[in-house]
Amino acid sequence: MKSNNVFRIALFPGDGIGDEITEPTRLLLDDVAARVGGFGFDWQPCEAGAAHYRAHGVALPENSLKTAREADAILLAAMGLPDVRAPDGREIAPQLELRFDLGLYAGVRPVKPLPGVRAILADPRAHDIDYVIIRESTEGLFAPQAPGTRDGDREARETMVITRETSEKLFDFCFRLAGARDGPRKVTSVDKANVFPAFGFWREIFYERAQGFADITADHAYVDAFAMTMVQKPWTIDVAVTENMFGDILSDLGAALMGGMGYAPSADIGDDNAVFQPCHGSAPDIAGKGLANPTAMILSAAMMLEWLGVKHGSSEAEVAASALRRAVDAAFEGGQLVTCELGGDAGTAAVFAAVKETLARVDV
Ligand code: ATP
Repeated sequence: MKSNNVFRIALFPGDGIGDEITEPTRLLLDDVAARVGGFGFDWQPCEAGAAHYRAHGVALPENSLKTAREADAILLAAMGLPDVRAPDGREIAPQLELRFDLGLYAGVRPVKPLPGVRAILADPRAHDIDYVIIRESTEGLFAPQAPGTRDGDREARETMVITRETSEKLFDFCFRLAGARDGPRKVTSVDKANVFPAFGFWREIFYERAQGFADITADHAYVDAFAMTMVQKPWTIDVAVTENMFGDILSDLGAALMGGMGYAPSADIGDDNAVFQPCHGSAPDIAGKGLANPTAMILSAAMMLEWLGVKHGSSEAEVAASALRRAVDAAFEGGQLVTCELGGDAGTAAVFAAVKETLARVDV
């Protein structure tokens, strides 16, 4: 951190709707810092993404990576475009490179529908949904140290990597999180230990680490059954930890249960660094139309404030995180603000204006 409680934030607008949701989020962060007082931001814009790769042949320039490494936190909108591909056919995804390079093993994806947003599940208990999926974000089926192989048109293989070092840190993170939440204090391992020995290893480590957290319940579920639980009785879930690929899929299901991708925030946290970005991609189908919902990015920014507050002992940043969350809740309260993805007419500007207005009124 710079002197005077100024946080250096590496800001990656990225591709597609990235620019459209980054600017309102940045303005709200400046607003909340001014309201709370005692801290501020030094914004450090960084270039990266598929459009950058198309223009310059590099997805994550070295100077952007350096800025990210040295920043207090990284705020990233979205990266990747379906028509921009690496020579091997993969989409350009520098956000994955950042996770690998900075060791951001804990992908934190809260599933908590906003009170004023139309519930997707009909059951009245849907209002009580409040859980967190932790997606391991550096290994599993995405592991860079085990790239897949392809033998012409005969076969292709992928490898899943589970390491003790990362798993121990990941599970400890989850048990600590469950202990800090106002929930049933439970961590569920979501795996497929009945089929893959790698998940048997994962589960062994999970229960070993659970022994260090006697006040937290540890249990497990197979990923297929857990997908059903997310729809049939999601109010029973507290913290659920899973492998990278499973987490990718389940967190989109969680986003859908909140109303759509535009409501789902996330954080990728390591020992020293963290990236905060919405769960969604660059949504090229709606880019440039003013339809993108910035809520997921605003809530990701609130997660960033909270993380900075805890890490640097800044009660001001923690107060600001709470104020920004309460402003978002208040903006949607009453159900008048209905975003385009839910059939309403509130686009980026309307959501921004509503949150700006409620932010000016929340207690700090
Ligand atoms: P990725 O694989 O990079 O995560 P994706 O293929 O899952 O991306 P997204 O870009 O997340 O795709 O888009 C999925 C759908 O959700 C699209 O129809 C898109 O328009 C919609 N969507 C994504 N983000 C938003 C948003 N912020 N507001 C409204 N709709 C969104």
